[in-house]
Amino acid sequence: MRPTARLLRALTLGLGLTLGCTADPEDFVHEDDAEEGDSQYGVSEAAAAPGVRVPASLALQGRGTFYLTFDDGPSARYTRRIMEVLARHEAPATFFFSGANIAGNEPIIREVHAAGHRVASHQWSHVIATSTQFTGFVTRERDALDRVLGAPHPRLFRYPYGAGSTAKETVLRASGYPDGGIGWNVDTLDWCFGSDAYCDKVPTAYRRDYVGWVVSEARRLGGGVMLFHDIQGITASNLDAILTRMEGLGYHFGALPSR
Ligand SMILES: [Zn+2]
Repeated sequence: MRPTARLLRALTLGLGLTLGCTADPEDFVHEDDAEEGDSQYGVSEAAAAPGVRVPASLALQGRGTFYLTFDDGPSARYTRRIMEVLARHEAPATFFFSGANIAGNEPIIREVHAAGHRVASHQWSHVIATSTQFTGFVTRERDALDRVLGAPHPRLFRYPYGAGSTAKETVLRASGYPDGGIGWNVDTLDWCFGSDAYCDKVPTAYRRDYVGWVVSEARRLGGGVMLFHDIQGITASNLDAILTRMEGLGYHFGALPSR
């Protein structure tokens, strides 16, 4: 196992973090060192790698609050369904939209913004960008979202696969994203539940219980940034049950700062 792969395994096992978006950790290389740390109430993930960690600058340390985030959309099939559920629960959310899915879905993006959610960037292409590609992928997506909204979108950015680096963080800040990459500490692993293929990231006891798995992770971590994907039907179908159970446990849903 390469050193970078060992690091990722340590992050995955030690911090309870996993890479979203079906990344294979063995293929994921980044430039930074990290150490294990306490993520019990983990939004202050100072030890996690850039891209995966939640920036301390967001000041989300309040326990018991969850910040709902949805990556990879917009989805003509699911994003509006998810918005309906969020409205029912009066829950704000952040949508990290992928540049490849903007064309044809512009009205959805404007509806997300009009509903009070954050329209945020998930890079122009859903790949692990090279350093050569990265600046263009950031600015192209930034400008595309601004054009759709007719105004600057909130300057929040999430790396595909959480694949950040110190060099990319510098590019992000120079491109107008003051916090760098916005990571997560609660991974729903929704993409693991959507196919017949076995996903060994989900404990066997929860393989047929997506709602139970997400609620158990919420209870284990107690608060923070929760990662979903609005391209996943299982999330659209089960979000209402998840939020209902979390409300029953006394949790609240917060909005990320609007940059
Ligand atoms: Zn993604």
